[in-house]
Amino acid sequence: MNKCPACHCKKSSKFSVPEMMFGMNQSFLYSHCHNCGSIWIDSIPESIDKFYPKNYYSFNKFEEDSALSKNLKKWRFKMHKIGFSIKAPQYFDWIDKLEVGVDDSIADIGCGDGILLKQLKYCGFQNLFGFDPFIDNETIISGLKIKKLPFEEISGFFDCIMFHHSFEHLKSPLRVFEKIAQILRSNGKALIRTPVSGSVVWEEEKEYWFQLDAPRHLFIPSVKGMQILAEKNGLELCSIVFDSLDTQFSISELYKRGIPLVKQDREKEFSKRELSNFVKRAEEVNRKGIGDQAAFYFRKM
Ligand SMILES: [Zn+2]
Repeated sequence: MNKCPACHCKKSSKFSVPEMMFGMNQSFLYSHCHNCGSIWIDSIPESIDKFYPKNYYSFNKFEEDSALSKNLKKWRFKMHKIGFSIKAPQYFDWIDKLEVGVDDSIADIGCGDGILLKQLKYCGFQNLFGFDPFIDNETIISGLKIKKLPFEEISGFFDCIMFHHSFEHLKSPLRVFEKIAQILRSNGKALIRTPVSGSVVWEEEKEYWFQLDAPRHLFIPSVKGMQILAEKNGLELCSIVFDSLDTQFSISELYKRGIPLVKQDREKEFSKRELSNFVKRAEEVNRKGIGDQAAFYFRKM
């Protein structure tokens, strides 16, 4: 792939990225677009499955919470809706910004065992769908269907489509956006949470930036790349919230020291002070819009 998958610019720099999650001793060629700054893998390994060992997906069987826990979660969401937030989980922010109602159809792409959909169900949402090609068991219960299906094969129409760190694992971001536009109802919303290039940690660590995650991450957009992909497909990029974590600094630093993720003990490798500085730095880069991951909110025009 020579052209940038987002902006189609033909000028890019190539660099080699080691597989570091499991320490597989293999490197992969990536490109960095000179125009929009997006990053992509040059060629997807034929046996990509090999890089997703059994312990990569730790899906649990879908199990419902106790009646008490369900009721408490429903009550917490009701209180949140009228302005009283008690230990609000992060997904309340997503729901608020997406402005979805309990009757709206919501699809979670790459939903795994459906942990987020389950929480939404307890909040009172009743038109929920999950899609994941790697799950063992499909789930069909009242108000919630989880199907074993790749994104390209989804049919139907939705009021809201979400990707929580699944977008970067998909081939061809342009086709992904075409599909989003195709299955989203008019005025529907999409949320894509993904690593993003152009961050401080990418500038500092380059091939050791842990969210390159070679060869599993196939495309990492820049903000400009996301804007271009949205515009090409009739979607408006409404807002961006940077939600990067301290791990962007700690894991990347240990990658540079040659320690794969599965062997990292960050409590041992860093002092308490260093660890707390990573947390502070993550908050700072999020405020400045230069963290290494973000939530992109779109609306179909
Ligand atoms: Zn580009």
